Amino acid sequence: MLELKAVDAGYGATTILHSVSLNVQAGESVTIIGGNGAGKTTTLRTIIGLLRPTAGTIHFEGQDISRLSAHEVVELGITLVPEGRQLFPDMTVRENLYMGAFRRDARSQAEKTLKEVLELFPRVAERLDQQAESLSGGEQQMVAIARGLMARPRLLMFDEPSLGLAPIIVEQVFSVIDSIVKTGVTVLIVEQNVHHTLNAADRGYVLENGEVVLEDAAQALLTNDHVRQAYLGI
Ligand code: ATP
Repeated sequence: MLELKAVDAGYGATTILHSVSLNVQAGESVTIIGGNGAGKTTTLRTIIGLLRPTAGTIHFEGQDISRLSAHEVVELGITLVPEGRQLFPDMTVRENLYMGAFRRDARSQAEKTLKEVLELFPRVAERLDQQAESLSGGEQQMVAIARGLMARPRLLMFDEPSLGLAPIIVEQVFSVIDSIVKTGVTVLIVEQNVHHTLNAADRGYVLENGEVVLEDAAQALLTNDHVRQAYLGI
């Protein structure tokens, strides 16, 4: 479904990603793990078209999307749930959710989608008319994920969905991601919370200094010596 081949990308003259190759098959849940500054967010920004690769190609469902703008990539069905939620604080939860449905395919079905999405998020459903800023961090993360689903994505990408959340909320976030995969949405998760994300994913890539240094089944990465020492503190 998604394939990066030997992608270089960065900011100005600084190259951050060095020949990154990775793929995500339809229906899979794939994770990219790595420490601070490894290039995880840069990878997602490059896929969604906010950064342009300086080398290599990105294909989505057979189409070369390497040179498309973010607007065009989103129209094809890729959505990013950004790091730090980035809700509109003064708007209600309902208004925030409708902001997710701007994509052409999603706009006309927004009401129907909202009903479907709220089934996954009962606590969000109770808070539709509240201002987004009045929600707890965990509730805001759920709204950010629900907003992503409002775009009716084919590929939903998460940038550190567990960041800053209490352990019990982290469990809930990963449980919701699991439910989303079960509805048939393909998922790519970038995380520093290695234990949770490897348990949630089918496959994983380890990114260090902008390079993929390891890739394997998620369960195999959980028992890999390097992953255990560098990321799980075992
Ligand atoms: P984190 O978990 O800290 O967000 P990350 O793996 O997502 O880490 P990136 O945000 O992709 O890492 O950052 C990779 C490198 O790119 C870092 O060295 C960072 O300083 C640099 N970088 C990020 N954004 C910019 C920018 N707008 N301009 C210049 N350099 C940037």
